[in-house]
Amino acid sequence: MNLSVGSKSPLTGGYGEAEAGGYWGTELKKAGYDAVIIEGKSETPVYLWINDHRVEIRNASSIWGKQILESNKFIKADTKSHQTKIASIGPGGEKLVRFASIIHDMRHVSGRCGMGAVMGSKNLKAVAVKGTGHVKVARPKKLAALAKWMAKNVDNLVHDLHTFGTGAAMDVYESLGALPVNNFNEGVFPQADAISAQTIKKTISVGMETCFACVVKCKKIVKIDESPWKVDPVYGGPEYETLGALGSNCGIYDIKAVCKANELCQRYSLDTISTGVTISFAMECFENGLLTPAQTNGVNLSFGNKDSMLKIIEMIGQRKGIGDILAEGSKKAAIQLGAKTEKFSVQVKGQEVPMHDPRLRRGQGLGYAVSPTGADHEHNIYDTLYSKKIPDEVEGLGVLEPVPIEDLGPKKVRLFHYISTWNSLDNCLCLCMFTPWKVSQKVAIVNYVTGWRTTAFELMKVSERAFNLARIFNIREGFNRSMDILPSRLLNPKINGPLSKVSINEDDFENAKDIYYKMIGWDNNGIPTPEKLEELEIAWAIKHLITK
Ligand code: SF4
Repeated sequence: MNLSVGSKSPLTGGYGEAEAGGYWGTELKKAGYDAVIIEGKSETPVYLWINDHRVEIRNASSIWGKQILESNKFIKADTKSHQTKIASIGPGGEKLVRFASIIHDMRHVSGRCGMGAVMGSKNLKAVAVKGTGHVKVARPKKLAALAKWMAKNVDNLVHDLHTFGTGAAMDVYESLGALPVNNFNEGVFPQADAISAQTIKKTISVGMETCFACVVKCKKIVKIDESPWKVDPVYGGPEYETLGALGSNCGIYDIKAVCKANELCQRYSLDTISTGVTISFAMECFENGLLTPAQTNGVNLSFGNKDSMLKIIEMIGQRKGIGDILAEGSKKAAIQLGAKTEKFSVQVKGQEVPMHDPRLRRGQGLGYAVSPTGADHEHNIYDTLYSKKIPDEVEGLGVLEPVPIEDLGPKKVRLFHYISTWNSLDNCLCLCMFTPWKVSQKVAIVNYVTGWRTTAFELMKVSERAFNLARIFNIREGFNRSMDILPSRLLNPKINGPLSKVSINEDDFENAKDIYYKMIGWDNNGIPTPEKLEELEIAWAIKHLITK
């Protein structure tokens, strides 16, 4: 089967394209494309070269098996341009690690859902782009004024994020018992500050950088010169999720080891959350005698063993030894390792849980369960932001009263519905959830970029439409209500810390699901009703509601 490419659009002032996660998407737009659809599979390794209106499929055999830095150097030389922007996979994507990511320009990552493995399955090493066009927007002066407002106010709005990046509140989260420790089993980690963003800033940071046109500038860059932790700054630095997943959740508090682990994940193109949580799963199996040294090729996988963690990341990236089983993710690995290990697998729909604990934030747990992409913390709610007062950012959404973080009744479900629907809009607009735009400003951005005089109501419907289509996709592929669940680890108390007496009642949780399904127009089995699809003007999708 041949690999073919489609979906070209002229450079017009039509639907705009912003990007969270680097410059690659912006370059694609400058080349004249809103999106690229890749169908089929190449028989040999290739990369796609989009040079304005010229598109070529080029031989990538010489870089198949190479890590990101080496392959990017080759592609820049082969395209004869240092300006070429590259979205590529490392050996993890090539070897179809189920949580392989796509790395954009060395250190911006499409991390979740195994998109790197999709590229690998097509023998597609990279998509390289150079665009020399200009992206027109409908109302450039208005857009520039809004951008200036954000530049002026960013430090007030998100001071810590702007100064340190994510991970500046590790100690606060630990004091609440919610920092994931040793595979989400514990809540006490006195060394939390050792792996915080502040510690990075004081010790190994060589600066902060940004994604395209974003003044928040929250991305850390770290450099370590000493062996064995030597870290090349071209790979950026760890976010909060990485500090938790490859740090406290594996019992590790050496910031240099965590940064090295982050770098290895970038080199191999592995999602740091799923990598960390799959390794913490293996560590708990090992400590309980369910994974033996004979199975790990002699690697001591006890919690806190940083050398072993780094070794296992490489084994996953190469699918060697136990790494081949762990490359399947914790859900499938548990099936191979035996039923007794299943309770250590902390995932939803096969996607490992991020570093936010639903035993603290119940609405977020509901969000993990009903998300079309499994445990996702982005198109979700942070209950803590709405428990004391309602932030100005969501003014206009009809959310007026705070709701306690532990609440799981109708008020919380309504709050979750409105906030998560609004946050899901970022997936449609390609905006970053960290940029602190108010509802009215986000509406204005869409208007200024596209010329569409829209409203928050219409944009909520855009988001709902996308969310329902993702649900229908899942139903067609065999997903059902029984998969909208939390792993047992997150329903039960931690063994120590402030959440050691906190559990989530399964009946309360199922009741919250019932309320949510009714509120959003799904039936008791979690299937969108024909009336709901009519309301969203996607009734054509009803035919896909037949499961395979
Ligand atoms: S706020 Fe988002 S878009 Fe801006 S630099 Fe940080 S991650 Fe990138």
